[in-house]
Amino acid sequence: MKLPIMPKIQDLIRMYGLSAKQQLSQNFLLDLNITDKICREAGGFKDCTVIEVGAGPGGLTRSLLTAGAKKVIAVEMDRRFIPALRMLEEASEGRLSVVMGDMMKVDEGELLRHFQAEKMPWEEKSKVKIVGNLPFNVGTHLMLKWVRQIKPREGLYAYGRVPMVLMFQKELAERIIAPVDSHNYGRLAVMVGQECHSKIIYDLPGKVFVPPPKVDASVIHIEPLVEPIGQVDSKEHLEFICRSLFNHRRKTISNALKPMGKGSEGLLGDIDPSRRPQSLTFKEFADITNRYTAWPDKKQMDYSEFTNDAGAIREATKKEKRSQKKQQRI
Ligand code: SAM
Repeated sequence: MKLPIMPKIQDLIRMYGLSAKQQLSQNFLLDLNITDKICREAGGFKDCTVIEVGAGPGGLTRSLLTAGAKKVIAVEMDRRFIPALRMLEEASEGRLSVVMGDMMKVDEGELLRHFQAEKMPWEEKSKVKIVGNLPFNVGTHLMLKWVRQIKPREGLYAYGRVPMVLMFQKELAERIIAPVDSHNYGRLAVMVGQECHSKIIYDLPGKVFVPPPKVDASVIHIEPLVEPIGQVDSKEHLEFICRSLFNHRRKTISNALKPMGKGSEGLLGDIDPSRRPQSLTFKEFADITNRYTAWPDKKQMDYSEFTNDAGAIREATKKEKRSQKKQQRI
């Protein structure tokens, strides 16, 4: 679906004197061949309602529109990009709506309701997709926020099995898709793998971004499963169990659980207590978590501290920060 002839993204950046802000980890994709390829590898967007998070100067936004999206809702928190996005909005003949705001605070369900997105039954292919080339710290936080919406089928997931197409630092993407017993297997893989199928669909070298970060990136496609592998009653308890076990990777699981107190070995059921945390399957993590939830002697604590993602965000941003010491002019 062609758009009218428009200035190149590079020219818009020059026209509006835009620079990449370090604090928003802005690394742009200006080559439309690359953004078109991301859209193809993500399985296409024809007739979909797409929430694009962090549209920036609008490269990926253009590709989503040419890929035939019925509606693109572009959320951007940096108002310097709004004039360039408005120009695209006008050219889109009603298919693009620009929403100025912080995605961390946006209510996805409300947004989709406002734009009258189509709800699909859980078993069928969703007509809604969410896409983002985001700062990695924000991306991790949002991804986990969306994963938490799957079981109660609220927010995004009131609209069906909405796939997420997200760009991450390659190293982080590999941790999200990591299979059981692999080097990268950890909390992120368990949190996502319980309920979703995830795969890397496209690797991008850092040099294709402007300005280029020192690390490479990967686009991952995460789609909720029709039937989750492990059903947990409490996501907060799952995060707590993951952190408790993966913080002691070298210990046996029974030793890693010991700080929880007397009777913690009962959480294992018939799982061999001499195994290491990284050998536990998604289902076994769910079983341990559900026993923990039902355990009358568990410590009373504020479990929300395990869902604030501070650790994951710290890890994800360390490298990125090093590669972006100062604000860079494009
Ligand atoms: N999508 C564009 C591209 O691929 O060239 C821009 C990508 S840039 C890595 C990330 C964008 O996300 C920036 O424009 C930044 O301002 C925006 N952003 C960062 N945090 C955000 C948030 N919490 N909500 C909405 N947008 C955000």
